[in-house]
Amino acid sequence: MGEWTTFQCGSCEYQSRPVRWGVGVHNPSRRFMPALCPSCKEYVEVDLTGADMVVDQFTCNLCGSEVDFIDRRDAYGCPRCSGPSVRMIQGSEYW
Ligand SMILES: [Zn+2]
Ligand SMILES: [Zn+2]
Repeated sequence: MGEWTTFQCGSCEYQSRPVRWGVGVHNPSRRFMPALCPSCKEYVEVDLTGADMVVDQFTCNLCGSEVDFIDRRDAYGCPRCSGPSVRMIQGSEYW
């Protein structure tokens, strides 16, 4: 199941756009994960649909830079102020 997640920093004004996370309800082959784009300084969604597990480089759909997946990071840091207190706000709607 997938849901919309928004990342919101407790230290500055940063708030991400809604990021799809998980597997689509209407099309279960659609898979998305949140990742951190170092160029945009944004949490962005990455389309993993049909991705090969051998491939471990994914790019930002906004700028094309390579992104960092959050589960490889120590913490949910803020891309703007590096503050450690980023909250995840779960959307109520599944996609
Ligand atoms: Zn911040
Ligand atoms: Zn980017």
